[in-house]
Amino acid sequence: MKKNSLFVVIILGTAHLMTTPGKLSPDGRLREYKYSREIISDVKAKLEAYGYTVFIDYEPLEPKPEWTAARKRLGYTKGEQAMELDYRAEQVNAICRKYGKEHCLYVSIHVNGAGDDGKWHGAGGWAAFTTPGKTKADALAECLYDAAFSNLKRYVDIIDEGKLRGDYTEKQVPFRMDNKDGDRDLEANLAVLRKTACPAVLTENLFQDNRRDVDFLLSDEGRHAIERLHVEGIIKYIETL
Ligand SMILES: [Zn+2]
Repeated sequence: MKKNSLFVVIILGTAHLMTTPGKLSPDGRLREYKYSREIISDVKAKLEAYGYTVFIDYEPLEPKPEWTAARKRLGYTKGEQAMELDYRAEQVNAICRKYGKEHCLYVSIHVNGAGDDGKWHGAGGWAAFTTPGKTKADALAECLYDAAFSNLKRYVDIIDEGKLRGDYTEKQVPFRMDNKDGDRDLEANLAVLRKTACPAVLTENLFQDNRRDVDFLLSDEGRHAIERLHVEGIIKYIETL
């Protein structure tokens, strides 16, 4: 395989596992691990149809036995989740070593949550996270924001209408941004962003515990919008390389 500046490997990150506690809508219609994998399967097929090489960091629904053992020993967050996140980062870094990290990018696809208490909440909005400070991931996140703006126009109306009905609190915005450091992405030291060698972005695609967000996410229109924004954002970034 030729390694030139145009050769890019895309790594997509699935959200969580079937066994991860919480991470679902209060009515159980949306489960984050499943939704993320469905979107990723579509995004991967589209990107491959455009000729790109695409990998997924961890596809199985179940944890590896050693993660389950760590969960028994240390509890979920300390044991199982830490091992899962490390494993994902290792997978990404193995691909970076093989192809060269300058040829790779990583996008982990999630659905946000406000409460984790089994109740509906009034938060909504789309966001992309990178690690703090100026990194190459900022440019990737900017391209994803551009693509989110153009693909989530209908969602902007949903938030406006939803506020009138009390489905969103007044301060909610369709795109969550922090412009203080000159770009729009939010910044957090998330493990899969911090421990991966290539530009890495984590998207939080609306809220699994907001009724209107879940309706939109599960509609054909919503699924298509979430899929398109990732495909377009990633390709837009590759075209700047
Ligand atoms: Zn998540």
